[in-house]
Amino acid sequence: MITHQHLILKNCPPLCPPPCNSSCTITHLLLHCSLHHTLRLSLQLSSSLSDILHYRNPDIHLLIQFFKAANLYNLI
Ligand SMILES: [Zn+2]
Repeated sequence: MITHQHLILKNCPPLCPPPCNSSCTITHLLLHCSLHHTLRLSLQLSSSLSDILHYRNPDIHLLIQFFKAANLYNLI
């Protein structure tokens, strides 16, 4: 919801908190956000968005773990 709420509410797209300040998209959060770089490395998340979100991804628990550790779980 954090990445799409602005579409429903017809607001500007949200930005990541400082110092990132990038557009807050799923791609950004899962692959590029500097705020979550260390977390991505520690969980060994794939660098491929299609691999991370693939319905047959055997490591889907890592995605859940990432969202929880990044305090994003309740925002999606
Ligand atoms: Zn960011």
